[in-house]
Amino acid sequence: MDLYEHQARELFKEHGIPVPRAEVTDSPKEAREIARRLGGRVVVKAQVKTGGRGKAGGVKLAADPAAAELTARQILGMDIKGHPVGSVMLAQPVDIGTEFYVSYVLDRAAGRFLAIASAEGGMDIEKVAAERPEAVARIPVDPAVGVTSAKAAEIAAAAGLPAQTADVLIRLWQVLVREDALLVEVNPLVRTRQGRILALDGKVTLDDNAAFRQARWAAEADTDGTADPLEAAAAARGLHYVRLDGEVGVIGNGAGLVMSTLDVVAGCGARPADFLDIGGGASAQVMADGLAVILSDPAVRSVLVNVFGGITACDAVAEGIVRALDTVRLTRPLVVRLDGNNADRGRAILDELRHPLVQQVTTMDGAARRAAELATAG
Ligand code: GDP
Ligand code: MN
Repeated sequence: MDLYEHQARELFKEHGIPVPRAEVTDSPKEAREIARRLGGRVVVKAQVKTGGRGKAGGVKLAADPAAAELTARQILGMDIKGHPVGSVMLAQPVDIGTEFYVSYVLDRAAGRFLAIASAEGGMDIEKVAAERPEAVARIPVDPAVGVTSAKAAEIAAAAGLPAQTADVLIRLWQVLVREDALLVEVNPLVRTRQGRILALDGKVTLDDNAAFRQARWAAEADTDGTADPLEAAAAARGLHYVRLDGEVGVIGNGAGLVMSTLDVVAGCGARPADFLDIGGGASAQVMADGLAVILSDPAVRSVLVNVFGGITACDAVAEGIVRALDTVRLTRPLVVRLDGNNADRGRAILDELRHPLVQQVTTMDGAARRAAELATAG
């Protein structure tokens, strides 16, 4: 889950990273009060979970409390890249000297974290990274060691940041570790004309797998609204479902088999619409829930059930499908491949069903090809 800027700012503050004074509101009238409390002149910032707010007009300076109210009213009516602005943060303006970029991000392929830093931060960092990659330092961080003073000095030196940013680099790492984040980013980290280092904008992506030990965000995750609605519905039913952007619905037993099924579907020239692992059970309920979620995706044009019976025998899976079809109305063709333990009995059960939309193919390749044909035809 991504956090809003004001939530990231709160975490930074708790971990001793200097941030400007700021308050959040959804009311223009209250914005005027806040501006008064903050000294009159404020920066009004849209709170949306997307970047590029500055360029979209979502970050504006207001000269006094009346202007703050006006600006807040205007920004609260905006939609930034499909994100309606529900609240604004008002912050004490900062006299920016230099803007830097710093972040830590999980590098899954390398199995460690990466510090990314640049002395040319600000709203054009993507352009800098694309046109002059040498201006952006990328330093691996071993999670078992973390960001020590030596590591912080190494990152600062590599990026050409002033040595006084080392303290923020260390504390930012602590935010990542203690809050179970996959990404922490400060852009811009600024040095003010008076020589202070301040985090002016923050992005934090929390690791959803650690949600169980980060209770403070539990209520947030429910109302977050950024989750895919089908994934949310599947999670509520306890399904291991990931939505993809193709047209062949996929259900299988075992993560490895489902992963290979996605590959085989892709190899047949179609695109998988999801990953759904029903695991070791064969319950009609899981099958019904899985089919219901997959069929509520309008992009799905066929569904492939790929099961290799092991401890769970194929006849039990076939019974599960039969009972699931009592409650779920099949609106698109279902291709079933059963193999392994009791495959013959399972196939016989589905044959007896004689459902016009259910067909069986005994091999994985053949079943994937059939599902792909059905999904891409006409
Ligand atoms: P983003 O566009 O979504 O990344 O939003 P930011 O919070 O990074 O703001 C965009 C830009 O607005 C920053 O890069 C700064 O140049 C500018 N900005 C933000 N806060 C202040 C401030 O307090 N003073 C000044 N002078 N500029 C600010
Ligand atoms: Mn920014």
